[in-house]
Amino acid sequence: MRAAVWHGYKDLRIEEVKEPVPKAGQVKIQVDWAGICGTDRHEYEGPNFIPVKKPHRLTGRVAPLTIGHEFSGRIVELGEGVTGWKVSDRVTANGSLTCGKCEACKSGRYNICQKLGFVGVGDDGTFADYVLFGADKLFAIPEGVTQREAAVAEPLACGIHATNLLGDISGRDVVIIGPGIIGLSAFFGAKYAGAGRILVSGIGEYRRELIEKYGGTYVDVSNTDLEAYVKEWSGGRLADVVYECLGSERTLDQCIHISKPGGKIMVMGVFGRKPVVDMNTLQEAERVIYTSQAHVNEIATALEYIRDGKINAEELITREVTLDTLVEDGFEYLIQHGPEQIKVLIRIAGNQ
Ligand SMILES: [Zn+2]
Ligand SMILES: [Zn+2]
Repeated sequence: MRAAVWHGYKDLRIEEVKEPVPKAGQVKIQVDWAGICGTDRHEYEGPNFIPVKKPHRLTGRVAPLTIGHEFSGRIVELGEGVTGWKVSDRVTANGSLTCGKCEACKSGRYNICQKLGFVGVGDDGTFADYVLFGADKLFAIPEGVTQREAAVAEPLACGIHATNLLGDISGRDVVIIGPGIIGLSAFFGAKYAGAGRILVSGIGEYRRELIEKYGGTYVDVSNTDLEAYVKEWSGGRLADVVYECLGSERTLDQCIHISKPGGKIMVMGVFGRKPVVDMNTLQEAERVIYTSQAHVNEIATALEYIRDGKINAEELITREVTLDTLVEDGFEYLIQHGPEQIKVLIRIAGNQ
C-alpha cells in the first residue's frame, strides 16, 4: 500500500509499505479522506515530535513512520476480540494512544494520559491506504454525513472539548484570537454552548465572511489595535472568555489584557517556545488560565453538528490533494499560502 512516510525534517516520502495487520482490540481501516493538521505541518517543517533516537514512551516506535491522524474511512478487518463493529462500517477516530491504566485513563480523561501518544507521531498514521486504530477510539459516522465531511470532525472536536472545560459560558462575551481551524473549532464550540457575542481576530480578511455568516464579529488586526477594539466592543467590560489559538507570547499577553476581572483564558495554541506570562495582571483581577489538550469523546458532538447543519463542513475544506501530490501541493503550498487555507484534505480511497 501507499503511505506518506516521515524520514526526517522536510523528508516526507510517498512509499510502498506493507499493509498493517490488526492486533487484538484493533481494526484495520481503509482511509477515504485524511486532513492535514497543524501538527502534521510541524512534523514536516520542524520542530518535530516524531521520535528519532529515543523510542516512543508508549509504542517504542522511532522514525521512519507514517504521519497523519485526521481521517474518515471504512473498516475492512477486525482484530481479535473486537465487538460492536463490523466490516464496512463508516468510521473516524480519536488519534490518542493511551495506556488505559493511569489515573487519567481510568477517569475517562484519556486525552491527558501519563504516556499519551498520537497516531501519526508515536505510531503509523492515516496518510496511507490503510491504518490501524483501537476499537475503543472509533466513532461511527452518522447517516447524513459524508465521508468527506467526516474527515473534518476531529479538529472541530478540539474547540468543543476546550469549551466544555470552561463550564457554563451561556450569554458570555467571547473573543477568539486566531482564525485557523482551531480558532474556528473554538468559535463553533462557544457558539453552540450558547455564548453571547463572539469576536474573532485575525490578520487579513480571509475569514470575515465565514464568521459573519455564522453571526460572529470579525476584526482584522493588521490595521486595528485589538485591545482598544475589545474595550469599545464590550463597552469597557472586556471579554468574559478569551481563546488563545495561535501559541505565541504576544497573543497570550493580549488575552490577559482583554479579559475582564475574573475572566477566563483558554489556551489552545501550541507554543514553539516558553512565553513570558504577565502574572501580575492575571493575579490582580483573579483572571484564570485554562489549557486544553485535544479532546476525549467530542468527535461525536462534532459529527452531530455537521449532521444537523450547524456546521457546513464542506465550507471548511478549502483544498484537495492526493497522496502523490501531498508534498508539493499540500505541505509546500501551505507554507506559501497557509493563512488563506482552512482544511486541506487528501483524497485517498475517496469514497463520498
Ligand atoms: Zn488534528
Ligand atoms: Zn493512561
